[in-house]
Formats: sequence, C-alpha cells, structure tokens
Amino acid sequence: MIYETAIIGGGPAGMISAIQAAGMSKNPKSVILLEKNPDLGKKLLITGKGRCNLTTNEEPEEIVKAFGRKGKFLYGSLSRFSNHVTKSYFEGLGVPLVVERGNRVFPKSGKSIDVLNALKKELNRKEVEIRTSCEVLTVQIAPEQMSGGKMSLTHDSEQNSQRVEQIFDNSLQKRMQCLSMDSGSIPFIIKTHSEKIFAKKLIIATGGKSYPTTGSTGDGFAFARRLGHTVTRLSPALVHMIVKSKEIRGLAGLSLKNVELGFYAKFDREEKSKILCTRFGEMLFTHKGISGPIVLDSSKIVGKALKDNESRKVLIFASIDLKPALTEKQLMNRINREVESTPKSEYKTLLKRLLPRSLIDTAILRTHIEARKRLTDITREEKSRLIALLTAFEFLVDDVGGVEEGIVTCGGISLKEIDPRTMQSKLIPGLYFAGEVLDLDGPTGGYNLQAAWSTGFVAGVSCCDGIGS
Ligand code: FAD
Repeated sequence: MIYETAIIGGGPAGMISAIQAAGMSKNPKSVILLEKNPDLGKKLLITGKGRCNLTTNEEPEEIVKAFGRKGKFLYGSLSRFSNHVTKSYFEGLGVPLVVERGNRVFPKSGKSIDVLNALKKELNRKEVEIRTSCEVLTVQIAPEQMSGGKMSLTHDSEQNSQRVEQIFDNSLQKRMQCLSMDSGSIPFIIKTHSEKIFAKKLIIATGGKSYPTTGSTGDGFAFARRLGHTVTRLSPALVHMIVKSKEIRGLAGLSLKNVELGFYAKFDREEKSKILCTRFGEMLFTHKGISGPIVLDSSKIVGKALKDNESRKVLIFASIDLKPALTEKQLMNRINREVESTPKSEYKTLLKRLLPRSLIDTAILRTHIEARKRLTDITREEKSRLIALLTAFEFLVDDVGGVEEGIVTCGGISLKEIDPRTMQSKLIPGLYFAGEVLDLDGPTGGYNLQAAWSTGFVAGVSCCDGIGS
C-alpha cells in the first residue's frame, strides 16, 4: 500500500492536518496518521489545566505580534485558518466555546477531552487510517526522485546524510522538477518497529521537546536534521523560574492576582541595572520558586539573559509591585488613614489589611519594624520602607526550568527553510512541517494551539491541493 499522505504525530497539528489531507484527497483512505502513544492527543488533554485554552479571541494581527520577530511566518497560515475560523470549526464539530478573561477561548464544558473527541470523530468520519502505539524510527527519502540516482537514503546513516547534503547543493528548482515529474513517485519510506510505510507526501508534526512523557521527545528534530534541515537552538519557553532563597520557597502556595512583575539584570561591577521585562497579572510561589502566567510569559527573556551572560557575572532580580493601581502618594495616604482610624492597633494588623496572610512575616522581617509596634509610633521613614516593600518586593532568580519542563519549546525547524503559505519544505518537495516542531513559540493564552491548528490545517490542505508541488 502506498499512502498519498503520512502524518507523524497525533497531536493537535497532526490530527488537523490528517483531517484536512483526507478531506482534500481523492482517496481519503490513503491518509495515515502515526502516533507513538496508545492514544492520540495526550498533551492536548492536559492543556489549560485540563480545560484546553484552544485559541485566543484577539485579532489575527495580535497573534502575529504575540509570536515576536518570527510571528510574520504565521501570516500565511492564519489568513487561511485564523483563530476566528478555528472557533467556528470546533463549534461546527459540536464543541460549544466560551471566551474568558484575557480573551482566552475554552470549550464551554471546560473539558479538553471534548476537543479531542471531536477531532477523533472527524478523523474517523474522514476515514483516516490511525495507527497508535506506532513509533516512527526513521524517515527515508528515495534520492532517485531528486538526483536520478539509484541509492536509498536513510536518516540514520552519516554517509547517507552527506549524500543528502550533496543533493541539496543542486538548485531547488531542479529538485522540485524531479519530484513533480512522476506523480506516482514514492519519496518517503517511514520505518517503525514492525514495518515500512510508503507515502508520497509526509507531514512531520511531532511537537517540541517539552513534557516528554506526553510523547513529545523531539524525534521530529532528528528526522529533519538528517533530511538536511536546520534545527535552531532548543530552549524552554513558558517555564517556571527557580529561586533558591528559603524565604521565597517558604511562600509556596501563595498566589497573587493583579500584580506587576518585573525582572532586571544587574551586571558585575556595573552600577546601573537593566530592565528585562514587566508583566501584569497572576503569579504563584511554588516549592521550586515562582510560576503562573506572568512568570511563564517572562521566562524566555529571563532565560536568554542568563544564557547570554554566562561568561559575565549577571544577577537577575524579580520585583513585584503588589499595589500597581496605587501611586506611592496614594499608598502613603492609605497608610495614614489606617493610622488615624485605629492609632492603637499594631503594625501586624495594618499588614493584614494590606497583604495576603502568608506575606506578613516576610514584610515584618524586610521592613525591620516590630510586629507589635503601635501604628501611632510608626515613623514616616518606616512608612516609606513599607511602601518600598509594597511596590518592589524583590528577590534573586537563580535559573529557569529546563526545556523538558517548559509549556512549549523555543526553537525548532528553521522557518527560513519552510514556505509559510504551504508549510512545505523548501529543501525537499513533498515534505511538510506543522505545529510546535517549527521554530515558533507564543505566550500563554491559546496562541500555541492556534499555531498548531493553523499550520496543521495548511500543511494538510497544501499537500493535497498541489500548491507548491
Ligand atoms: P504535540 O501536542 O506535542 O503532539 C506531537 C505528537 O507527536 C505527540 O502525540 C507525540 O507522541 C507524537 N510523536 C512524537 N514523536 C513521534 C514518533 N517518533 N512517532 C510517532 N509519534 C510521535 N497551548 C495553548 O495554546 N493553550 C493551552 O491551554 C496550553 N496548555 C498547555 C499546558 C501544558 C501542561 C503543556 C505542556 C502545553 C500546553 N500548551 C498550550 C502548548 C500546546 O499543548 C502545544 O503547543 C501543542 O500541543 C503543540 O501541538 P503539536 O501537535 O505540534 O505537538
């Protein structure tokens, strides 16, 4: 059996591309989806804490911006499968949606399994052949399609990969012509533990390298590298931060809402510090350090600052403004009102009115004011110390979590080598990439799944509609 299209990876990107490829194909039964886990969508199930924040309700231009410098790569796929289309697509599959705070879109049921089940139903309806517990080990290309030669290339042989490089030296156009000459060609041979699968088109949607227990162990990077593609440096994106201080670890479990969290770098022997980023929203203290949306969204910048300055001594500080809605003057007025209304009450009582309970001991220690000191006895200078703490609660950040611990992987298949309108490789005709395997990572809020839906959709459609082939 020679399949029209094989898809490696049964995550969001792989599932949607298989559905589209089968929908576009003259013979839907000729689409095969290969997944190494016993079931599809293991990571999808844990997204949004099991609720699946499947997209954002922002405008597509904002999504492009949210992906930073590389975001413009998404223009092509978002113009064909935008977040608005994603919403109607899932509602059409029988998954009603709700938009929550921060324009986050979730299934109304609050259950990610509903999203997965809808996709599985659609895969079955489109007659996609699904192979689970099917780990792809190697991807081979038949070079005679490209060079006119007779040899067979496997991605697991050094010698062959050198030959692949030679072939890549030929002009792209020539290679494209060679493949399209024979529509019956079988350029891809996919080896699993038990068999060889032949396919005319191949979509690699194996995800990144984060949360490897979900199956995303970075296999697609190895396949792509051996096929001549560049894989950019992999690092964690959206990851917790490590704080070793006992004082901060003692706050584990404390969750803060509506705070402003900033990070700054202080270099050895330099007076001035450099502000890295600031974010407003929610964060929490954990037994390892800090986490939560605004920490995750800052982690790439903080991780980069640590990595880029390995040779220079750099200290990274977090600074939390616990009262970002109030100016220092307003805070002083607030404290003075408390003093006037209850002059005999103790400093500790004032702190209870201003801070979460678990921060009180820390505040007493840091402001060096006696817990039982009467409010009338508190000096102006002491009040200023308290205000300084409320507006800039600072601590040292030691590191960011590892790539396996990130919500997404930063880095991946170089976007320069992929056509953004089709997701087709610019090096190997008939080869497509979709989802997190690409060098793209966005913030929290449904952006990363949207990138998987958009790129997966386009890869699935393009490999069948002849665009670029
Ligand atoms: P994956 O979902 O990683 O799927 C890849 C699949 O390929 C896996 O099933 C894997 O088993 C399979 N595979 C890999 N190698 C092979 C092989 N050799 N052979 C066969 N199969 C293979 N994003 C959001 O937008 N919203 C959220 O709410 C959200 N929450 C998240 C929460 C957590 C805890 C995590 C870890 C991530 C979250 N993300 C979220 C990110 C999002 O889940 C990913 O960006 C998305 O799943 C990427 O989809 P994908 O299809 O590219 O890859």
